[in-house]
Amino acid sequence: MPPIITYSPAYTIVPTYECFNRCAYCNFRVDPGGDRWLTLDEAEQILRPLRSQGVIEILVLSGEVHPQSDRRKAWFDRIYDLCELALSLGFLPHTNAGPLSFAEMARLKTVNVSMGLMLEQLAPLGVHRHAPSKTANLRIQQLEWAGELRIPFTTGLLLGIGECEADWQETLAAIAQTHDRWGHIQEVILQPHSPGKQPSPGTLQSWTGEAFNSDRLVEVVAIARRLLPSEIALQIPPNLVSEETLLACLREGATDMAASVRKMK
Ligand code: SF4
Repeated sequence: MPPIITYSPAYTIVPTYECFNRCAYCNFRVDPGGDRWLTLDEAEQILRPLRSQGVIEILVLSGEVHPQSDRRKAWFDRIYDLCELALSLGFLPHTNAGPLSFAEMARLKTVNVSMGLMLEQLAPLGVHRHAPSKTANLRIQQLEWAGELRIPFTTGLLLGIGECEADWQETLAAIAQTHDRWGHIQEVILQPHSPGKQPSPGTLQSWTGEAFNSDRLVEVVAIARRLLPSEIALQIPPNLVSEETLLACLREGATDMAASVRKMK
């Protein structure tokens, strides 16, 4: 039987670009306090017209306010309220807002159909030197908590940020292990890093590494398909690869296409 290829017409909203991490490749963040958070009224104006444009899923993708910050609760409440708004308008919200406390994750579960957090790479890489949220233990714990809370979860690898092939295998094996315990990983995104333009002044990425050679994506798909259980879908971004690579990835077992009309961080 030919494989079924899925995609979800999605739109990304960003509650805030501010983030206390400084991943060296980031073209998304601004410094804490450096932007105005998206209001519910603004979000409603963005979301309402999308109903007639075939959008089904709303990706809520946010920069992170530090867990110890006195602004953390307001940040979390804004994300919660945005999800609730999206639900009330008939969309399916999916939030990726960085590492959460167990209580935050449990609360967000009530207004999301699924949630996500990229593992990126578990190996300690130079690009994450100033990103406390990108430590391996913290991120694995998020996958474990999501399993414990029975949250359908998306994770993935960011490729071409200074890792080696053994690092891909280590990260994929960790995903397989947590899924083996809880059965909650619905898809794994294989995202090639590609340097982009920053959305606003002051966010210039400091890392000058080259974009991931997308021809190698086929290789990563093959390794992922070998290491992950077949019920986990492999997602690739069709806009970042050639048609030839895309078809080769499908042959190797990719079955899901990212279809957001806004770029993910
Ligand atoms: S990649 Fe994400 S976590 Fe890292 S600095 Fe950018 S917004 Fe923050």
